[in-house]
Amino acid sequence: MPHQNTGAIKTVKKGDFLMQEGQKGDCAYIIETGRVEIMIRKNGAPEIIGTRGAGALLGEMAMIDDQPRTASVRALEDCTVLVISREDFIRRAENADPILRMVTKVILARYRDMLSRTESIAAPDSKKTDYSKQENDRDLHAIAVNTIKTFNELKSGLENGELLLHFQPIVDLDGYNIAGFEALARWQHPEKGMISPGVFIPVAEESGLIVDISRWALEESCKAAEIFKNITGAETAPFISVNFSVQDFLEAGFFSHVTRIIEKHKTPPESIHLEITESLLMEKPHIAKEALQQCQDYGIEISIDDFGTGYSSLSYLHAFPISTLKIDQSFIRSMLAQESSFQLVKSIIALAKNLDMRVIAEGIEHAEEAAALKNLDCEYCQGYWFAKPQPLEDAAALLQSWTPPEIQTGQKAGER
Ligand code: C2E
Ligand code: CA
Ligand code: CA
Repeated sequence: MPHQNTGAIKTVKKGDFLMQEGQKGDCAYIIETGRVEIMIRKNGAPEIIGTRGAGALLGEMAMIDDQPRTASVRALEDCTVLVISREDFIRRAENADPILRMVTKVILARYRDMLSRTESIAAPDSKKTDYSKQENDRDLHAIAVNTIKTFNELKSGLENGELLLHFQPIVDLDGYNIAGFEALARWQHPEKGMISPGVFIPVAEESGLIVDISRWALEESCKAAEIFKNITGAETAPFISVNFSVQDFLEAGFFSHVTRIIEKHKTPPESIHLEITESLLMEKPHIAKEALQQCQDYGIEISIDDFGTGYSSLSYLHAFPISTLKIDQSFIRSMLAQESSFQLVKSIIALAKNLDMRVIAEGIEHAEEAAALKNLDCEYCQGYWFAKPQPLEDAAALLQSWTPPEIQTGQKAGER
């Protein structure tokens, strides 16, 4: 089907179909002139369920969620219809209020479930029969209510200063000194206590609130960078690695927001690293390339987080300005027990070196893992064995009193 633009007028001859049940559709229609009949299959035979005239909206569901049409529409007389394209609708929806987006999604999913249940009752042998959907409907409702509640609380939590950053050292395996810190968000909820980012970051990403959270995290990281620099001196000041999400890069003015924050705090751009996952590079390669290039030209380094867990294609690696690969902790956890994980870690380290990138292994919980990584020529490590993520004051005190750990004897930092 050729692509149709919003605003285009389409004519449908009497007896022709505007859309057919089960087919994919990339647009909705508003009837300008003429009448149509709507039919669905029941017990394998088409059944007319209604007629529509000028002003009626048709095909809106498939346009929103890219699922097959749930009904067929046939012209009863020569008709003209106005096109609303799916692409155009999605672009507008992405700019809409987050609550509106979330509620639209839920209503749509429930409406579809309702339709498919009606169909199942009418045609018990239908291939689409799925009684478990009734359960899904309730689940979906609970998820939506929960998400909206969390979103509201998170929004006011951000405004009320309930969010804070913890800092986890990234240690170099040459001299066992602190080379940098990863900034990790925490939510100190007034009633529920400390909430993990695993709970609230997905809600923030879904709702678009992540953009505000990332700017806040960058701002707090700039303040922390100044404190760490005052402890070590500018020469050996640790970098701070800040997590960013795909949505941050899609936001208009992403780069100017980043530079405005960095300049406001007079932070040397080299002391800020941005951590992103592979999904940004794969989903939005053009936007990612431009934004990441701007960051690199400005002096901010880019790290690929959870490397090895995302997409298998490595071809993108040299197409983007990437400074660091962070090996996902799942490989580190199994590297001493499973030969395949060990080989994978070894290969990622070699790959990073060949591409002139830095490599950081995440999730080191035992001295033996650190020793094995050092033997593999890994440059940096991060994990509970070195230090857990901790509040700014504790991280600053740790930096101040840091004594390099002994991986051979298993003696941790500060144990002597
Ligand atoms: P991540 O970016 O992969 O961060 C590393 C996670 O591993 C952190 O979990 C850290 O506490 C944990 N970790 C570090 N060392 C060890 C270890 O030795 N063993 C184990 N088992 N875990 C270790 P955390 O702080 O719960 O963060 C979870 C995820 O939430 C992060 O994973 C990141 O994806 C996301 N996140 C956290 N803060 C932010 C933020 O400010 N912005 C965004 N966009 N995402 C964030
Ligand atoms: Ca990270
Ligand atoms: Ca990670």
